[in-house]
Amino acid sequence: MAIYDVIIVGACTAGTFFSNLLAQEGLKVLVIDKDKEENLSKRLDIFHFTRQSFKDYGLEESKEGDEEFVRNFNLCYSKSALDNYLKKSFLEVAVMHLPLFILRLRKTAIKHGVTFRFETSFDHLVYDENKRIKGIVTTQGEEILARLVVDASGIPSVIRRTIKDPYIENFEIGPRDKFYVLLKYVELLNPTDKVEYSTSWPYFKGWIAPQHKQNGAIVGVGANLSYDYARKCMAKFEEKIKLPEYKLQYEEMGCTPYRRPPFSFVTDGFLVIGDAACLTKPMNGEGITSAWVQCAPAAKIVAKALKNGKYPTKESLWKINTLYQRGEGADFANLRATLIGAVDMTMKDNDYMFKESIIFKSDDEDVKGSVINKLIKGVLTKQFSFKALISLLRSSNLGKKLERHYKKYPDNPKDYFNWKIKADKLW
Ligand SMILES: Cc1cc2nc3c(=O)[nH]c(=O)nc-3n(C[C@H](O)[C@H](O)[C@H](O)COP(=O)(O)OP(=O)(O)OC[C@H]3O[C@@H](n4cnc5c(N)ncnc54)[C@H](O)[C@@H]3O)c2cc1C
Repeated sequence: MAIYDVIIVGACTAGTFFSNLLAQEGLKVLVIDKDKEENLSKRLDIFHFTRQSFKDYGLEESKEGDEEFVRNFNLCYSKSALDNYLKKSFLEVAVMHLPLFILRLRKTAIKHGVTFRFETSFDHLVYDENKRIKGIVTTQGEEILARLVVDASGIPSVIRRTIKDPYIENFEIGPRDKFYVLLKYVELLNPTDKVEYSTSWPYFKGWIAPQHKQNGAIVGVGANLSYDYARKCMAKFEEKIKLPEYKLQYEEMGCTPYRRPPFSFVTDGFLVIGDAACLTKPMNGEGITSAWVQCAPAAKIVAKALKNGKYPTKESLWKINTLYQRGEGADFANLRATLIGAVDMTMKDNDYMFKESIIFKSDDEDVKGSVINKLIKGVLTKQFSFKALISLLRSSNLGKKLERHYKKYPDNPKDYFNWKIKADKLW
């Protein structure tokens, strides 16, 4: 029977990245995945990654000639719903092939001593005589012991959902909790049309961005509810916004979590990361680096919790919760709640927000004046609806309350339940 310090279930961006950090802390780590190695993350080809993240997460920069590398761009535009206003952000972005990027992460992890096993599925947890998690059993019936079990299985959250423990919310990431992304890989028909930067229209949750072919682009839309609804949103987006003429090459579809993360990621012998912990960005569903924000400090906390053969109790892992929830957790809670207020907005309302640089602004823009005064002026001059004003005030007020509450996330598990009652009420 194999015994590890940590077993991670799921070998994609969250599990592989985390395994490498743990191995660098000197831990013996096993990563399993139900898929064949060559099929890993096949659902998505091209993805975008801010270049700063290479530095932030200690990765070697991907460059021309590397197999995962496609190209770089350094500007992102966002445009208003009526296409009248444009905002510009300077952001260095790497365009890469996701399966090859994960392969690169895996090679680095293997170099640091991580063991990977494919076509190996998690079936259930095993517990010790004190009912504490002590490992897993695979669907082939093999028992693998580890002091810490990590769920990095993405939306299925195969381990988190089976845990019966007051510190772990075992909800399913159901159809209404997902962001359905539809991507069209297209060839541009007019040789003078080039898509060298990413341009998004937040009102439609639609965008056009570079892909691997110089005369190509990716047209994308994200929507809640279902793929059917995403397709309808795509049709509306393309009807309202004039994109360059194109011929469809192929489509990709996928979904990411679109709900608040669990209030606690840890309990005795257990940690949940990545999509299984719903750590995606509320505005666009991207989830690679937003999940790493939790992983990076977690690796050090786990190493300390496991030092000298210790069992990782929730108390010793708790700082993972505190650091995340008071930081990105608080920011995303605010944003997630505020975005709900945008649902009632018309295209004209959205245009006005761009015009007055409310929420949307260019990096080089010096925005003056109070937001509330601008919104009231918009209502008085009939450029912004009263309904949108009320909805936005309500949602941003709730967003701020949530942010303040998350910043007071408890220092230890015993104060968790009181904190959770208030958080539940606010949500
Ligand atoms: C169309 C689309 C485009 C996207 N574009 C971007 C982007 O440009 N930038 C960005 O940051 N994010 C993007 N995202 C989001 C990003 O892909 C995810 O947030 C991220 O990949 C999640 O990684 P993960 O490792 O947590 O989960 P996953 O990638 O879902 O990996 C989970 C792994 O667990 C394995 N697994 C599941 N069940 C079991 C089991 N029982 N036993 C063993 N293994 C199991 C699965 O086989 C899988 O390999 C996009 C998502 C979609 C759908």
